[in-house]
Amino acid sequence: MISIDPRTVILLSGVMSAFMAIIMFSLKRNYPTSIRGLGEWATSLVLVAVGSGLAFGLDVLPKLLSITFPRLLFPAGLLLAYVGTQRFFGLTPRFKLWIALIAGVVLVQVWFTFVQPHFLVRLALSNALGACIFFAFANMLRKQGLATFARRMTMGVMVTMLCVLLMRLVTLAIWPVGEDIFNTAPQHLVYVTSFSFLVVLLSVSLVLLASERLHTEVSYLASHDSLTNAFTRRHMNEACAMELERSVRHDHSMAVLIMDLDHFKLINDTYGHQRGDQVLVDFVVKVNGFLRRPDQLARFGGEEFVAMLPETRLEEALVVAERIRAACALHSTEPNCTVSIGVTTNAQGNDTVDSLIARADAAVYRAKTLGRNRVESA
Ligand code: GH3
Ligand code: MG
Ligand code: MG
Repeated sequence: MISIDPRTVILLSGVMSAFMAIIMFSLKRNYPTSIRGLGEWATSLVLVAVGSGLAFGLDVLPKLLSITFPRLLFPAGLLLAYVGTQRFFGLTPRFKLWIALIAGVVLVQVWFTFVQPHFLVRLALSNALGACIFFAFANMLRKQGLATFARRMTMGVMVTMLCVLLMRLVTLAIWPVGEDIFNTAPQHLVYVTSFSFLVVLLSVSLVLLASERLHTEVSYLASHDSLTNAFTRRHMNEACAMELERSVRHDHSMAVLIMDLDHFKLINDTYGHQRGDQVLVDFVVKVNGFLRRPDQLARFGGEEFVAMLPETRLEEALVVAERIRAACALHSTEPNCTVSIGVTTNAQGNDTVDSLIARADAAVYRAKTLGRNRVESA
């Protein structure tokens, strides 16, 4: 028979929470500020670590420190983890009612500690309060969707924690044994041990949530131009290669448009670089308005853009290009900037991304030499 000492388990739980808090604080320092909630998660682990340390000191420390404080710090830590997760998902947390509830429960527990000491009532109150916070926490997570591994893991840990709390509540009602938190009744050992593990598992799943978010942000940065939000050249090369393969397989035609703004240097010289930037941003918005859902637009560099139109024949691509050119030529707002467009399709059958781009580039060059503000095909 394995013998578990609850006091040691609580101490270990405190030490592990402290380590996880350090990890979480270092993530907060190193991750972009757009990933929110890390500070709350780290602080919540500090509260759990301190609470565990104080609970470990039962019989040595005064009851206020070893009983009342942990029963305040644990739900406060859990609430802070909940608030942090809401911030992480971009929600505005409302926690005044929760704080009032925690304060009320702790006051009742003070009564059952100093006036009419009763461990099982204190435990029942703590578990009921914990179950309420976990339920709200899990429900919020469910509403955010469980599409990723980290979200499913977090949900799994929360549901298990909820089950452990409810198990302890039910066993309290039907099998009320134990005088303090260090009692060795089997249901209490299962409760204390699984809870210690679950605190660590919950913080690991929160770290995974943050890493998943970081991965999403980094991939977005790698595939999107920071000024115009159009795709990057790297992304477009990959997307074109995939589309080219698909087109050959299904015997489709795909079109590539290269768009180069005319006399853009003059725009910068006349209106300044910042207005020039705005022209680039507006151009992308304008072009995206003419593209369909599967089409993709990338900034190839400077004032040169590439659009890839899957399953599009040359005549159709020329219509799109002409619409874009005409929209830019409309002198609606200052500074006005026209565009020269080169269009090509993969009609030859043995094209590569480079050969497609080279042909569209030759067409742009022709549009430039023929006077700009034109659409040419090759
Ligand atoms: P052309 O009609 O022959 O294309 O003439 P152009 O002036 O557009 O072409 P050129 O290649 O001589 O100049 C491109 C200009 O685009 C020069 C450069 O300062 C400007 N440019 C490149 N990137 C940016 C940017 O991010 N923002 C701004 N505002 N200007 C940029
Ligand atoms: Mg230009
Ligand atoms: Mg250019």
